[in-house]
Amino acid sequence: MLLIKNGRVMDPKSGLDQVCDVLVQDGKIIKIAPEITEEGAEKIDASGLVVAPGLVDIHVHFREPGQTHKEDIHTGALAAAAGGFTTVVMMANTSPTISDVETLQEVLQSAAKENINVKTVATITKNFNGQDLTDFKALLEAGAVGFSDDGIPLESSKVVKEAMEEAKKLNTFISLHEEDPGLNGILGFNENIAKEHFHICGATGVAEYAMMARDVMIAYATKAHVHIQHLSKEESVKVVEFAQSLGAQVTAEIAPQHFSKTEALLLTQGSNAKMNPPLRLESDRRAVIEGLKSGVITVIATDHAPHHADEKNVEDITKAPSGMTGLETSLSLGLTYLVEAGELTLMELLEKMTYNPAKLYNFEAGYLAENGPADITIFDAKVDRLVNSHFASKAANSPFIGESLKGQVKYTICKGQIVYQN
Ligand SMILES: [Zn+2]
Repeated sequence: MLLIKNGRVMDPKSGLDQVCDVLVQDGKIIKIAPEITEEGAEKIDASGLVVAPGLVDIHVHFREPGQTHKEDIHTGALAAAAGGFTTVVMMANTSPTISDVETLQEVLQSAAKENINVKTVATITKNFNGQDLTDFKALLEAGAVGFSDDGIPLESSKVVKEAMEEAKKLNTFISLHEEDPGLNGILGFNENIAKEHFHICGATGVAEYAMMARDVMIAYATKAHVHIQHLSKEESVKVVEFAQSLGAQVTAEIAPQHFSKTEALLLTQGSNAKMNPPLRLESDRRAVIEGLKSGVITVIATDHAPHHADEKNVEDITKAPSGMTGLETSLSLGLTYLVEAGELTLMELLEKMTYNPAKLYNFEAGYLAENGPADITIFDAKVDRLVNSHFASKAANSPFIGESLKGQVKYTICKGQIVYQN
């Protein structure tokens, strides 16, 4: 038995926000009350700390199989636990891609060895070919939780429509990375700084919001649910809001980097600040925060994208891969740029990092209640910490190294077991 004493227990599902004790046994929370005494239980003193549901991240890249020099499922899970996450959803852009039941089963066998909940989507199209749908039904039955060709946007509107219809039939949804290659320049650099500083054609806003506008309207017409991944433009928030106002089943996530920073970070952090979609303008950063506040965007997801230092440290920055390691800074970025900045309450932040993403996938996660799962994150919300290059992840491609951020995870508990302690 595990007894968590005197923490500020915060549950976004019920609204509970009170100093309480939490008693855990056999992977479940068995009691939440102001004063619990239990002889023989292992005790955690959570005085001054927040006791929250284990964080849920529905967008991570763990690179297994195929690119395990960047990350593997084990180190990815360690990074998740260190960041306070107890449930993650992997993307399927591995090598090979997760497009068939056999590959899916291999990945899930590897994931089952971890002591946090590691789930995965499968691809929408076979090997990302953009044309032929995978066998959604077989993949769902084999344990895929959803579908995404994340990283390779679907150019064919016909395929998007077919995928939505198939997903709807099976009571699931597809998730889309929206950057139309036909409207884009070099990825990872927002068009403004690309032109002014790097003298290249960069990643345009229209590539994102035009493709998104097409897809939310296909969702509207098919009455299917579509989930928009890591949107980054002011116009994109308006597109999602408009589709929602029509009654379309459109949900959206945002990555912490997009509410924290702008394209200027490329000038100081180089390739570690290069990602898809890219960091944008201050007006875009403001707009995505407003989208979080208004509820148009309900989920914060990291897009944890580890890369090896040798791949990032190339002479020509346009050749460096896009993406940043994100699991171990996500909570702190939310605490710093949303809560401390007065944009969201701590409860609102937690809702977007626990209950909302869990609800999207119908996971038994993201809340604290008696008889509920003992997936719990205990953190200090106020302490300052200097981000250094020591990560549990294999990769250290973070543009936040050297920055002082709020918050430190103290314990991550999953299925009743302490899986991380600081
Ligand atoms: Zn993506």
